[in-house]
Amino acid sequence: MTVVRIALAVPLMRCFDYLLPAPLRAVVGGRVTVPFGKRQATGIVVADNVTSEVDPAQLKAVSAVIDSDSLYPPSLWRILLWAADYYHHPLGEVLFHALPVLLRQGKPAEEAPLWQWVASETGLAAPPDTLKRAPKQQQALAMLQQQPLYRHQIGGESFTEAALQALRAKGLCDLQARPRAPVDWRTGFAIQGERLRLNTEQATAVGAIRSEDDRFAAWLLAGITGSGKTEVYLSVLENVLAAGRQALVMVPEIGLTPQTIARFRERFAAPVDVLHSALNDSERLAVWLRARRGETAIVIGTRSALFTPFARLGVVIIDEEHDSSYKQQEGWRYHARDLAIFRAREEAIPIVMGSATPALETLHNVQSGKYRQLILSKRAGNARQATQRLIDLKGAVLQGGLSPALVAAMRQHLAADNQVLLFLNRRGYSPTLLCHECGWIAECQRCDRYYTLHQQSRQLRCHHCDSQRPIPHQCPQCGSTHLVPVGVGTEQLEERLGELFPGVPLSRIDRDTTSRKGALEAQLAEVHRGGARILVGTQMLAKGHHFPDVTLVSLLDVDGALFSADFRSAERFAQLYTQVAGRAGRAGKQGEVLLQTHHPEHPLLLTLLQKGYNAFAADALNERRQVLLPPFTSHILFRAEDHDNQQAAQFLHQLRTLLSASPLADEQLWLMGPVPALQAKRSGRFRWQLLLQHPSRARLQRLMKASYPLIQTLPQARKVKWTLDVDPTEN
Ligand code: ADP
Ligand code: ZN
Ligand code: ZN
Repeated sequence: MTVVRIALAVPLMRCFDYLLPAPLRAVVGGRVTVPFGKRQATGIVVADNVTSEVDPAQLKAVSAVIDSDSLYPPSLWRILLWAADYYHHPLGEVLFHALPVLLRQGKPAEEAPLWQWVASETGLAAPPDTLKRAPKQQQALAMLQQQPLYRHQIGGESFTEAALQALRAKGLCDLQARPRAPVDWRTGFAIQGERLRLNTEQATAVGAIRSEDDRFAAWLLAGITGSGKTEVYLSVLENVLAAGRQALVMVPEIGLTPQTIARFRERFAAPVDVLHSALNDSERLAVWLRARRGETAIVIGTRSALFTPFARLGVVIIDEEHDSSYKQQEGWRYHARDLAIFRAREEAIPIVMGSATPALETLHNVQSGKYRQLILSKRAGNARQATQRLIDLKGAVLQGGLSPALVAAMRQHLAADNQVLLFLNRRGYSPTLLCHECGWIAECQRCDRYYTLHQQSRQLRCHHCDSQRPIPHQCPQCGSTHLVPVGVGTEQLEERLGELFPGVPLSRIDRDTTSRKGALEAQLAEVHRGGARILVGTQMLAKGHHFPDVTLVSLLDVDGALFSADFRSAERFAQLYTQVAGRAGRAGKQGEVLLQTHHPEHPLLLTLLQKGYNAFAADALNERRQVLLPPFTSHILFRAEDHDNQQAAQFLHQLRTLLSASPLADEQLWLMGPVPALQAKRSGRFRWQLLLQHPSRARLQRLMKASYPLIQTLPQARKVKWTLDVDPTEN
């Protein structure tokens, strides 16, 4: 009997050995069922014929083998093994994370057959007036006599499945499984629809990428908003698809707009599969299988689309590569862009990362020669750059957060029949509810943060832990009923705009108005139709949308971003601002961007307005170099939480001692903390962190690898909830 090593989806940094009884045959990368504790668990074979350290007499046996082939193409398998190591995350969780839910549950890696109701010979011959006393069955049979009926399509008929079952009992019809016909899109492949004449910069970019499409090459397509990056992607895809190869296109979470998808579908007579949130588990599995069989030409999806298996992957495209949604923020905290680079290298194919506001990491990789940059410096077609202006809020009388200067500008743009886009990164009615008599402020006890007032739902809501409670009528401290909302959120802004611009149709897009499935799509469609003239939104609206009639864009309150304790906030603000400003004047109309601030002299604002994102990025990179922050150093962040505000800090202290004592800890290793997290309390838990910094990523990795087994032996390690984040993007 041989021994196989199995990874299970459990939070343990180890695999498990099992006996493989004859005649079972296991394959590395395939699933098996094994007894684990009191239950049967699905596991993935990571090695066969292993020599176990455990006495074979102690080993349990594999109960069943599920797959006869590996579920992972070789490149993906290597990436996942590497990533489990690099992110110090349990291999089983990593391998399962990369699978569609149905496969994690042990379901077969094949599409469920399509079942059809078909009339039997007796059924076909039955005269129309048989079954007179069972009208439903009669209708069903009449239908089947015309044509077979797919089981999953029953529902629109006047009869139900019960009628068909009754017919079947009478021998008049039967269920038949329909095998799926293999699809080869390559035979009918064609480029269709309108093709724009590429401008010189676009053509140069396409030429460069195409010239090396048979090997690994990492390209940064740095193109200002509206410069026609999508057109470049499409042109690159033309060649890849024409050669019969497939493409993976990754987009940010909320960049997955119907317009983007439509542009890919219109261009190619080839199957395009989209992994969007509305898909159910079997639809997701179907996309996974189609891609694996090579039956789909393009897969478009967010972060997790990275794990799609492809038969013949030819290119990876990452749109808005700077977007924070590419980093997974819970569980296995991988960065999809970094893994995508790895994947492209493993598959020896090009990867194109596009952005108007490249991440500082990415620019650093360009400077160090790892990536090559292609620049689109002009807006495509006849669109011009928007003019940009600061509005000093000091002393201004605001209405719903709007200065008189902004209101005046809005009137002009609306009068010219254009659309106006207002950004306010604060949903709800107002961010605080204050007692006018004694100064009491409604606060979430679980987070020590202010409650946000939501007038429409008549609630106070904590935006940190999602808890909610009714709006109090009286101050709990002094009994006064004089409670006043302070500050403006999108809900209030919408209300005031209704007063200021009566009769002007308005659309508010934030998490509250788009929580229903399909609500966002419906609202965006309405905006595109030109229905809404004023759009109010949080940063949800900043990404990838192309609204041709918007000429005025305003950020109502940027001061919060200028004074944050997080060293990444300047970069994030610069990206948000540049993206938002890029929404103005996209289709040949002159756009205008207005920024409301109390700090019009702030250097960050001046750099951005006068010199633009690239100048900002150059400054910011220099600064990071001087103060030894990423990307010039590497970070690993430990987070720990407790209920008593002691154990988490104790654990991190023990960890710090352990790490500093390691022979791999040299003088270049910096340990910062333990310190309370930026948000020191959430949902009743106290949050602490310890940051590791080293100029050498490899060195930091070695230290981590050597120390990890010891961390688990620390006295507090089992008492607190702790996590480790490699290359964190949030504090
Ligand atoms: P980006 O993704 O860089 O923001 P898009 O690819 O969405 O830009 O292009 C912006 C607009 O410019 C689109 O309406 C697109 O159809 C148009 N466009 C792109 N390339 C060209 C071109 N070569 N000639 C004319 N219009 C173009
Ligand atoms: Zn009071
Ligand atoms: Zn809370």
